[in-house]
Amino acid sequence: MPELFDDTPPPCPECEERSATPIIYGNPSSEMLVVARLGDIILGGIAEQADAPEWLCSCGKRYRD
Ligand SMILES: [Zn+2]
Repeated sequence: MPELFDDTPPPCPECEERSATPIIYGNPSSEMLVVARLGDIILGGIAEQADAPEWLCSCGKRYRD
């Protein structure tokens, strides 16, 4: 089971905040749906694109590591 929720986000390229929310791709489990509802993750959809963003900053910027 990978650790999805304990990562420290990389700094945002726009504002350098480290408070981004992880964007999780794939078919969500019921646990993931609960966590997404709480706002701790964002569900990005079933199919992950090669350059899909991995983080959503509170400033609205989506970015990868
Ligand atoms: Zn930001």
